[in-house]
Amino acid sequence: MIKVTENLGKIQEFLATATRAAGRPEGSVQLMAVSKRQPLQAILALAAAGHREFGENFVQEGVDKINQSGRDDLVWHFIGHLQSNKTRQVAEHFHWVHTVDRLKIARRLSEQRPAQAEPLNICLQVNIDSEDSKSGLSVEDVAALAAAVAELPQLNLRGLMCIPRVRHDPAEQRIPFRRLANILGQLNAAGMSLDTLSMGMTADYAAAISEGATIVRIGTALFGARD
Ligand SMILES: *Cc1c(COP(=O)(O)O)cnc(C)c1O
Repeated sequence: MIKVTENLGKIQEFLATATRAAGRPEGSVQLMAVSKRQPLQAILALAAAGHREFGENFVQEGVDKINQSGRDDLVWHFIGHLQSNKTRQVAEHFHWVHTVDRLKIARRLSEQRPAQAEPLNICLQVNIDSEDSKSGLSVEDVAALAAAVAELPQLNLRGLMCIPRVRHDPAEQRIPFRRLANILGQLNAAGMSLDTLSMGMTADYAAAISEGATIVRIGTALFGARD
């Protein structure tokens, strides 16, 4: 577990360097530790080191970890594909959902969010490279879904999320991130006030930060390879 906290320190330094290099204010990029298929002890080690933001892909695994963590100061992000029969668990346990791509899911999350809880923070997942294999809505449909989600009482629409196709050249990696940032800019120019770009993973987070990422989702660089 020493390893994971060491990695945390290194990644925080990389993030700070990339943020500075992009000419962006210190602290403007938040690190989400993607803990899917990683043991609870690793999460607790990071929490003991002061880390708060965690991302999970699978509903049952995530809910179990939330319940077993024994801590109520952690912030849990759901980042997996969400089926409509699992929305209640997510609405009741998580603080964020980054993968909303249809109104039906958004409506259920809003209805099922407990009345006494803060509204659930939402990002719309955009299929930025128009890949058949990926979830997410197409670029043309973003404005309409954003408008509809913004009306739902128990949701707080925060921004956009994407998972681009793999590119190895850093300059190429920036292209889809720039596209997502432009879409966010258009929504804000049209009157919304969205503050979140959830983009960048282990292999491409520096490119994402250059293009305005506010949350980077990092698993492998932090925890090592998943089984
Ligand atoms: C697994 C996953 C990540 C983390 O990926 P790494 O390459 O391990 O950093 C980020 N975002 C999503 C949506 C994921 O499923």
